[in-house]
Amino acid sequence: MEAFTVAPLSVQPATPVTPAVFQASPNIAPQAAGSHGFTQTLLGAATAAAAARGVTRAQRQKRRATRLAQPASLDEKRFPVLSRRDPPVGSFPKMPDSVHPGVVSGQALVDLLNHAKENGYAIPAVNCVSSSSINACIEAARKMDAPIMIQFSAGGAQFYAGKGLDNSEFHAAIAGAVSGAYHARAVAEQYGVPVILHTDHCAKKLLPWFDGLLEADERYFERHGEPLFSSHMLDLSEEPLEENIEICVKYLERMAKVNCGLEMELGITGGEEDGVNNEDANPEDLYSTPEEIFQVYDALSKVPNGFFTIAAAFGNVHGVYQPGNVKLEPTILDKAQKYISEKIGAEEGSKPVSFVFHGGSGSDIKDIREAVDYGVIKMNIDTDTQWSYWSGIRDFEQKYHDYLQTQIGNPDGEDKPNKTLGWEVMLDPS
Ligand SMILES: [Zn+2]
Repeated sequence: MEAFTVAPLSVQPATPVTPAVFQASPNIAPQAAGSHGFTQTLLGAATAAAAARGVTRAQRQKRRATRLAQPASLDEKRFPVLSRRDPPVGSFPKMPDSVHPGVVSGQALVDLLNHAKENGYAIPAVNCVSSSSINACIEAARKMDAPIMIQFSAGGAQFYAGKGLDNSEFHAAIAGAVSGAYHARAVAEQYGVPVILHTDHCAKKLLPWFDGLLEADERYFERHGEPLFSSHMLDLSEEPLEENIEICVKYLERMAKVNCGLEMELGITGGEEDGVNNEDANPEDLYSTPEEIFQVYDALSKVPNGFFTIAAAFGNVHGVYQPGNVKLEPTILDKAQKYISEKIGAEEGSKPVSFVFHGGSGSDIKDIREAVDYGVIKMNIDTDTQWSYWSGIRDFEQKYHDYLQTQIGNPDGEDKPNKTLGWEVMLDPS
């Protein structure tokens, strides 16, 4: 994961992370009643107390609405995992104060991405298709002492829910992404790293998927004061630029109300990903111009409370190819920063745009460093991480091939069962 090599930061929590899941589990069952009865008792007591104080239902609703309108405290944002004891809330000495373990959104998202830009690193974004791939990514982030982005493509989200599930109206792709988001929220703070939850390319024909995700964000916001996902990507790069911008502005206005960020794309990312094939794209479309990038920046900057990043094309291609086949031109990003700084009267050397690097897999470290220097704060590495996930499975199968062919019988004996091998090896992979 080359992106980590350009992210020399420490996100060590101030307090060590307690494996709360294991420590807390024997103590979570209520003493006598089941959890339902326990909740009922609490609710009953609260209602009785309210009645005694002469609080009407309308007053309670008004109070609740007032409370929801307040920004949620960090403790309220914590995902309700098993126990309230020993919260794994640390602070990261080298990070902005708002950045905390678990899923970051709103101001914490803005602060984290600005910190990346100011300190010259990009956060890797990995497309996940299962809870185990989410865990693998967050574990890698923990080991590398760095933040990470977990994202879902429409196809990956559908796979997450199960390809057997009906996906008309994108129901499976919506349910899969929401399910993955809840999984990531449940485990992220346990690992003690900041995680950005995001969704990947959404072309015009996939907008109903996007609408479903935004509804989930809005509902989550009502309860928790933040969106379910930190941000989403809209990819209308196949449409004329004016239409692309118009739709992005419309969506950003809606997303800004729940503090959700937008990633937009202009120009085309070459190669193939998630069933979209741009292998024969017009070479010119693989490179954006500073003027086009300014048009986008100008329109999206006007959205109140809007936060956005731009995936501009600088020759990026999805997938991994023989060296020499992909010609990256990161200077396009530099030129755009200079052009826009001049247009908006920003200081020389400032980087007004936060760029996203698609097709990061297989890229030369020199190109990655250059792109990061020019304001790339997020780098997508799908193919490389898919491959590393698969190669782990392949190596395991190769090593234990003879134990994995039948339920009974292996090199240790014809009647030896093969049930426990996987567990033993996985628990002690040495
Ligand atoms: Zn992409």
